[in-house]
Amino acid sequence: MDFRLDEEQQALRESVRDFAREVVAPVIGEHYENHTFPYEVVRQMGKMGLFGLPFPEEHGGMGGDYFALCLALEELARVDSSVAITLEAAVSLGAMPLHRFGTAEQKERWLPKLLSGEALAGFGLTEPGTGSDAGGTQTRAVLDGDEWVINGSKAFITNSGTDITALVTVTAVTGTKPDGSKELSTIIVPSGTPGFTVAPGYSKVGWNASDTHELTFDDCRVPAANLLGERGRGFAQFLRILDEGRIAIAALAVGLAQGCVDESIKYAKERQAFGQPIGNYQAIQFKIADMELKAHTARLAYYDAAARMLAGEPFKRQAAIAKLHASTVAVDNAREATQIHGGYGFMNEYPVARFWRDSKILEIGEGTSEVQRMIIARDLGM
Ligand SMILES: Cc1cc2nc3c(=O)[nH]c(=O)nc-3n(C[C@H](O)[C@H](O)[C@H](O)COP(=O)(O)OP(=O)(O)OC[C@H]3O[C@@H](n4cnc5c(N)ncnc54)[C@H](O)[C@@H]3O)c2cc1C
Repeated sequence: MDFRLDEEQQALRESVRDFAREVVAPVIGEHYENHTFPYEVVRQMGKMGLFGLPFPEEHGGMGGDYFALCLALEELARVDSSVAITLEAAVSLGAMPLHRFGTAEQKERWLPKLLSGEALAGFGLTEPGTGSDAGGTQTRAVLDGDEWVINGSKAFITNSGTDITALVTVTAVTGTKPDGSKELSTIIVPSGTPGFTVAPGYSKVGWNASDTHELTFDDCRVPAANLLGERGRGFAQFLRILDEGRIAIAALAVGLAQGCVDESIKYAKERQAFGQPIGNYQAIQFKIADMELKAHTARLAYYDAAARMLAGEPFKRQAAIAKLHASTVAVDNAREATQIHGGYGFMNEYPVARFWRDSKILEIGEGTSEVQRMIIARDLGM
């Protein structure tokens, strides 16, 4: 058992850390404030190969693994979560379904653009009426000759409405199984397809420089060949994608939690109260020690889940534990970092204000904390 990173992993972590500090940090506050998507940052992340990290070189990937993606996400989120979630959603939710389940033609057509960061893909599972209970999908797709006709809507879809969004994979009911349950399938809908409408971006509490939209499909027709993988496998596909995605979200949450430690140490050494830096007071030191403890243990939890996944072992429970623990820790550390910053912690110009606003969604997206507990309990045979 060895949780130390090898040289290649350390080099990746260092280069993403430098990129986050030198390229992301100076511009992200303005994007966040103005709710604008950081196209230039994304372009540079593409040039660094971050969008291709866990994919084989065949389609333009970097030949790395899912853990490499997690390391990159942690380092980005240590500075900013909007940029980190843009990468997480683009890779883990956008390109990964095509890589895992796509036909040779689908991979050939879409993966090179997605893996270079030149284009983004969205993952359309959640609907206005159903999120945790994803099997409750209402969107329908009917085969009419050699076309699917899609009707329905999707809610909160990340990366679905940028200028470089190429497609959204949409989960839809495509029939009824012999046992009477819904047959769910996944269909690729290219941006700009008639009948596919992207609503204006939501007004969100956090992740303000990331792209999130409601989507509607009104007699939207795509070729039958746009079916992703086998018909009727939609449920199994999204469960696999979400299991992996939980490890990535855990890594992102650890990054935010660690960013809170970084900012708190810096501020505690500078801010004076009662004649000395507040960092001299044990009350502040203990807060920071507890924050470091939480970030560290959450990191070990996602390392463990990723190691099991890469070894081909069952990892569902460990991924849920990592996501549940890391998101809780992120919220805790964001609250404490804000406290350490006093009134300035409530001012948007300080990174901790962004961390605070960005932390809560981590307990909701890609499976709420209640859903993670359900998964853990189920895996324990309850
Ligand atoms: C900014 C943002 C980006 C997102 N990006 C995407 C995306 O790219 N693609 C996508 O498909 N989705 C995306 N989502 C959706 C996200 O995954 C869902 O919001 C999340 O899964 C929760 O679903 P819901 O919002 O419908 O909540 P609900 O499922 O309605 O849950 C409401 C509350 O009830 C609880 N609850 C539900 N069922 C149970 C139960 N059985 N027992 C106990 N408690 C229960 C939940 O835990 C929660 O506290 C995004 C959401 C946001 C806010």
